[in-house]
Amino acid sequence: MIPPYIKSPSPKRFTLVLDLDETLLHYMEGNVSNNANIVSTPNIANSQSDGTLYIRPGADDFLGTLSQHYEIVIFTAAMKDYADWAIEHMNNSKCISHRLYRQHATPSASGFYIKDLSRLGRDLSRTIIVDNIAENFQLQPENGIFIKSWFTDPSDTALFELAPLLVAIAQSPVGDVRDALKLFRQYMLEQMARGVANPTLHLAQNIRQLLDKHYNKISPKQQPRRLAHQKGLYNK
Ligand SMILES: [Mg+2]
Repeated sequence: MIPPYIKSPSPKRFTLVLDLDETLLHYMEGNVSNNANIVSTPNIANSQSDGTLYIRPGADDFLGTLSQHYEIVIFTAAMKDYADWAIEHMNNSKCISHRLYRQHATPSASGFYIKDLSRLGRDLSRTIIVDNIAENFQLQPENGIFIKSWFTDPSDTALFELAPLLVAIAQSPVGDVRDALKLFRQYMLEQMARGVANPTLHLAQNIRQLLDKHYNKISPKQQPRRLAHQKGLYNK
C-alpha cells in the first residue's frame, strides 16, 4: 500500500485543501505596475528573473478564519522553491499545516496536474478542495469547489464570499461535506435559473437554513450526531 502524503493525524475534524496560483495569489514575471497589491519583487531560487507577487484580496483573512475550523493544506502544481517562497509572503502562512507540490500531483495526458485527494491520508467525507482549475480535482469532483481565476483585480470578492460557506459547513451537523456541497450546487443552479446575478452573495445568508432544512428531512435514526452538535461537541 502506498503511504499517504500526510502521515500525522489531523488536529481538526475537517481538512481544507487550497490551490495556490490564481486561487490565493498570482505571480507575474517582470516589473509591472505600482498596484497596491504588490508584495515584493523577488529573486526566486534557481531563477534570475524578477517578478511581482500579488496576494488575492482577503486571502490572509481567509486563511486566518478557516484555520479555526479546518486543517489547512496547500496543494499546488507549482515547484517547491517557488511555492514556499510565495507562501512565506502571506501574512497568515503560519495557518497552513501542510504543503504539497508538483511532485504530489498526477500529470494527466491532457496536461493537467491532477490532485488526487485519496492520496492525502484524510477522510474524504471531511475534505474539501478549492481550485481555480476544476480538472485538477476531477478524481473527486464532489469534494471540489471551483473558484474563478484571480490575477490582479483589487475588487475581487471571491474569498470573502467563500469563507462563510466553508465555516457553515464546518459548523453544520451534516456529516459528509460532499452532501453539503451538492446542496450548494443545487441552490446555485436554482438561483441562476431565477436570474439572480451573483448567487454566491445570497448564499452566505441562506447557508444555515439550507443545511438545517436538509438535515431535518433525515430521519431521527440517522441523526445521532445532531445531539452531539447541539451539545456543542462538534461546534469547535
Ligand atoms: Mg491554480
